[in-house]
Amino acid sequence: MTRFGRRSLLIALVAVGALTVACALAQTDYEALRNAMVDSLVKRGIVKSPPVEKAMRQVPRHLFVPTGQRKAAYRDVPLPIGHGQTISAPSIVGIMTEALQPRPTDRVLEIGTGSGYQAAVLSKIVRHVYTIEIVEPLATEAAQRLKDLGYNNVTVRHGDGWLGWPEHQPFDKIIVTAAPDRIPQALIDQLKDGGRMVLPVVEEGWAQKLYLVEKTGDELTKTELADVIFVPMTGGPEAEDQADEG
Ligand code: SAH
Repeated sequence: MTRFGRRSLLIALVAVGALTVACALAQTDYEALRNAMVDSLVKRGIVKSPPVEKAMRQVPRHLFVPTGQRKAAYRDVPLPIGHGQTISAPSIVGIMTEALQPRPTDRVLEIGTGSGYQAAVLSKIVRHVYTIEIVEPLATEAAQRLKDLGYNNVTVRHGDGWLGWPEHQPFDKIIVTAAPDRIPQALIDQLKDGGRMVLPVVEEGWAQKLYLVEKTGDELTKTELADVIFVPMTGGPEAEDQADEG
């Protein structure tokens, strides 16, 4: 090898080494940021149960947001994910996941896949997550992302969640992450006796409330959890309302 060749090789090796160290540092940073975020959710009393805490420590939220948003991924804020949609703030994910009381044997339905983050968190705790997204490119991207990251117990479907997913009912738990103006009847019907559903509902104007709905036989118990802001649920309720008006 010529002197010139050896020098180039040395420079290349140093560059690769520096890049490896930089990548390793970046990796450590995200993990540290994620643990700090979960520590804060635990301290605030939002995350309470060991399985939810463990799942949120494991799922790399920064890989569920657009590349340009990664540095903000562990702040307690919602972030844009394209197509006018957002990934919910970590505290909302914490509140909703805890309220569901997820169990290892549960089959869960999610309406509003978005980035796939909420589905990923649940998939670490339950048997299977079925999730429906109405914006086709988001459904395709989320399905690919979940597959690439190895979440094998999540099934994503493009479609309108207003009607639920009759082929896989009844569900032990249902989580809705877009706000309808009333509780979709199909979701009540597809929830098991003894099941729990967590969903935001548009109340008046822009005001929304997050509810826990528990089903016991024909009885529904509604518990108010928080004031929230979700993107409105499109599809079914809109189509029905337009049909009513027309
Ligand atoms: N759970 C998501 C965030 C959801 S944002 C996450 O973890 O990233 C709400 C999502 O609900 C949006 O992606 C929106 O397109 C979707 N959505 C709205 N109406 C819907 C409907 N009728 N059926 C299915 N998805 C719907």
